[in-house]
Amino acid sequence: MSDRDSAAWWDAVRRHELTLQRCAACREVRFPPRAMCNRCGAESAEWVPALGTGRVYSWVVTHQVFAPALAGRVPYTTLLVRLDDGPDLLMYGNLAEGAPADLRPGLPVEAVFEDAEDGTTLINWRPRP
Ligand SMILES: [Zn+2]
Repeated sequence: MSDRDSAAWWDAVRRHELTLQRCAACREVRFPPRAMCNRCGAESAEWVPALGTGRVYSWVVTHQVFAPALAGRVPYTTLLVRLDDGPDLLMYGNLAEGAPADLRPGLPVEAVFEDAEDGTTLINWRPRP
């Protein structure tokens, strides 16, 4: 999951901090992390705190066991969330609380951190009032 561009992001997630990359030149916030700004082409960036909130854009419920490590979790719901930090920021994560039947496009959600048994930390989402 972690690579050259996303390693710092995963390190922050392990500390239970949700961050986004911001271009040092034009200040455009971007996700997922990447080496170059897709707006102005600059290669320098900084990490800024994310709001940790967004709205459900789409979701899928997985019933099939595709990975043995997830066998005990099916069915589980994976959300695609449009972050409140900007118009074009999409982040995946599992539904941490609630039922998929209660989901609707635009539903407000907030990020929660899940420390997995293998030492990784994941971003999940739960509905917010
Ligand atoms: Zn830029």
